[in-house]
Amino acid sequence: MSRKIVAGNWKMNKSIAETHALVQELNEMARAWPSDVKVIISPPMLYLTQVAVNVEDNLHVAAQNCHAEKSGAYTGEVSAAQLKSSEINFCILGHSERRQYFGETDASVNAKVKSCLAEGVTPIVCIGELLEERETGKEFTIVEAQLRGGLKGLSSAEIEKCIVAYEPVWAIGTGKTASSDQAQEIHAFIRTKLAELSSQEAADKISILYGGSCKPANSKEIFSKPDVDGGLIGGASLNASDFNALINSY
Ligand code: PEP
Repeated sequence: MSRKIVAGNWKMNKSIAETHALVQELNEMARAWPSDVKVIISPPMLYLTQVAVNVEDNLHVAAQNCHAEKSGAYTGEVSAAQLKSSEINFCILGHSERRQYFGETDASVNAKVKSCLAEGVTPIVCIGELLEERETGKEFTIVEAQLRGGLKGLSSAEIEKCIVAYEPVWAIGTGKTASSDQAQEIHAFIRTKLAELSSQEAADKISILYGGSCKPANSKEIFSKPDVDGGLIGGASLNASDFNALINSY
């Protein structure tokens, strides 16, 4: 099975009409996408079910977050079980914006990861260091702590079902990209840690995506690295031709 994935995180962008228009454009492009690349889009929660019934078979849909509990008195929240029942099979968890603005912690990410796995929703677990952490040489310590915290208590078989996204926070939406060598260095480290937490065989199957100002101009170089299995794309996923170019940059 190929590890290649290009996933778009639309964040809190687009009206329903704009969403339909972008999905339509992507559907038209989808026929020409390489068959070994899994393509995922993540529109706002409100639009997920409408998008899920309108996408081509090779265009998958993810939520940007979920709640750890299956159901109950959690006003405003949506569970992994509800995502699954709406045929949403992927969920981004622990994005740095959720950590920064919504108090997400490694423990809450871990509870959500477990809930997704229990429901058969694939978690896309985001990890990555802040600028001051990189400048003080703490990136490996931070990334390892987030990885261990997010995947705590999972069996090897469960870890194998996860997707990991390395997103240095200093590169998200800033126009600053990690160099392909910086990305490869951390991705190789993450795969070593995944092997410690599960097995080398499992770690070799896990997709590790790079995220942070990835665009058509730099994706070919970044995706060419052996431990970079694709990207989690913010800004450039809002434009069909840029997203298409990213997918075709393999
Ligand atoms: C993101 O938010 O996951 C992201 C990578 O954003 P951008 O591509 O805009 O930096």
